[in-house]
Amino acid sequence: MSLINAENVTFEYIRRDKDGAVEGINRAVDEVSITLEKGDFIAILGHNGSGKSTLAKHFNALLHPLEGTVYVNGYDTRDEGHLWDIRQTVGMVFQNPDNQIIGTVVEEDVAFGPENMGIKSREIWERVVRSLKSVDMYEFRKDSPQRLSGGQKQRVAIAGVLAMQPQCIVLDEPTAMLDPQGRREIIDAVTELNRKEGITVILITHYMEEVLNANKVFVMDKGRIVMQGTPRQIFKHADELKEIGLTVPSAALFAGELRKRGIEIPDGILTTEELVKEICRSLRII
Ligand code: ADP
Ligand code: MG
Repeated sequence: MSLINAENVTFEYIRRDKDGAVEGINRAVDEVSITLEKGDFIAILGHNGSGKSTLAKHFNALLHPLEGTVYVNGYDTRDEGHLWDIRQTVGMVFQNPDNQIIGTVVEEDVAFGPENMGIKSREIWERVVRSLKSVDMYEFRKDSPQRLSGGQKQRVAIAGVLAMQPQCIVLDEPTAMLDPQGRREIIDAVTELNRKEGITVILITHYMEEVLNANKVFVMDKGRIVMQGTPRQIFKHADELKEIGLTVPSAALFAGELRKRGIEIPDGILTTEELVKEICRSLRII
């Protein structure tokens, strides 16, 4: 059984005037199907307004599809009786860490979720330690979150979700408020969680560089999935991506331009290291 199975999901926001008459309908998600297996690391890529957040909110029953169905561990998200199971299976991390951190001490903040779940005190503290260690924030456990950098705060927010032991975490543009250093910290932490701890990850972003570690990328535009594949398969389509407001990593872009000028560089270049190696090979330097 798949961990998450979204089948032909459509969602519309309805705009009404002050008398309640329908003024307009905005189809934010349009017949989207996605299957996620345990251990997957998938990325959802798309520019602003393409429907990523609306789709993500379907994965833990914050929104219900207008048409289609979302199953989490086999439970239909419309099934109120399993809301608790669904919310416990899929944890959400949002853009702004300041809105997610409530404790005045890091470890208390991380304990908040499991405390609310009624977990016994000893186990709570075991979970807090494990979660903080897994995002490399254990040494800050006694600090005030306010004193941390953006990347550190966001890692505390991730630890807070991990302490509830979800099988899957959905991160909705977790790096949008961060500087390049903070962005790297989050992507590294998320990649480690997936690779070392087997946590299933859905990473939503509009930064191309952030999806390189995903095993599958879905590209959204106007509520639809317009491309899907491995990062390498996706980044071959630099021109199509540009048309929908996305730029490929600069190494992939350069590789494409060099290829257009007749320099023999294979498809699927993602990183600067790969590009340099191929240029040297092509120029017979090494
Ligand atoms: P993304 O996360 O990719 O930026 P969203 O899912 O937030 O996209 O938005 C998709 C579309 O739905 C956009 O056109 C947006 O304006 C619209 N939208 C999002 N939230 C609401 C809302 N609460 N009410 C009305 N329209 C909304
Ligand atoms: Mg969004």
